[in-house]
Amino acid sequence: MILLSGTKVSAKIRKQLAQESAEFLKARRRPPGLAVVIVGDDPASHVYVKNKIKACDEVGFRSFHHHLPATVSESEVLERIQSLTDSPEVDGMLVQLPLPKHLSSERILAAISPLKDADALTIENQGLLYAGRPRVKPCTPAGVIEILKHYDIPIAGQEAVVVGRSAIVGRPMAQLLLMEDATVTIAHSKTRDLRDVTLRADIVVVAAGKPRFLGADDFKKDSVIIDVGVHRLFDGLCGDVRFEELRAFARAATPVPGGVGPMTITMLLQNTLQLAKLHSA
Ligand code: NAP
Repeated sequence: MILLSGTKVSAKIRKQLAQESAEFLKARRRPPGLAVVIVGDDPASHVYVKNKIKACDEVGFRSFHHHLPATVSESEVLERIQSLTDSPEVDGMLVQLPLPKHLSSERILAAISPLKDADALTIENQGLLYAGRPRVKPCTPAGVIEILKHYDIPIAGQEAVVVGRSAIVGRPMAQLLLMEDATVTIAHSKTRDLRDVTLRADIVVVAAGKPRFLGADDFKKDSVIIDVGVHRLFDGLCGDVRFEELRAFARAATPVPGGVGPMTITMLLQNTLQLAKLHSA
């Protein structure tokens, strides 16, 4: 079985991004800039934000860290987003989710300029994606495609099944696979016989958010299995797939940790650079 290492692919892409960032700095006399807005004190969200800031440093981007108190009003968040939209040093921005309950994620995401939408979550950028001409691509699904391409896994003409239909992972994953000419099925919690669907697939992307949910019996021999799930259990991290069952069975699979996870922030950096180039084109 080929071990699909997101850690390796991510390191390769970050090296390339660092080079492009240095070229950008030379040509425009400023580095690409990513702003991250975080509201409140959710410890997991703070770890994610810290990792994003660290990744920016690693590739020579400037980061802008805006931490607002949990009690902040929606209009204050919107004002902050507007000031980042107006800043010529900020090329990409994101608001770390989830937000405290008194804030509307929908209204706050809608305030992000599609031209600075590093997570590709605004309605305009989703529309462009589903029209088949994305400005930027949602980070986790884009990372999956990069892994498949790095390991020369054929996608065109393959039967691909995506388990999960969230706006952040499942749905855009299906669209990106479709854009690569796969024949795509989306499964979800109302799918009648999930195993019947996954057993047909050459490529299965599992994003159900259920720890160790699927195993060897659910996949076709020699299929490619991508596990997007990530769960912190008492004995460490695991995915949605029972990875140890795949070794003598699958053609290729991503581990957890070290599979899709490391790619998400790398794709965020790639989106930021892409938006930076668009801004200064
Ligand atoms: P989500 O919003 O909870 O969506 C889960 C999806 O799985 C839903 O569409 C749900 O169907 C479907 N589902 C649930 N139970 C199912 C079942 N028994 N059979 C078939 N489908 C089922 O989760 P998400 O945000 O997409 O994230 C999915 C997983 O990926 C989570 O573990 C998350 O932590 C992880 N994740 C990882 C990264 C990364 O960087 N590695 C990034 C994002 C997310 P319904 O729509 O019918 O409810």
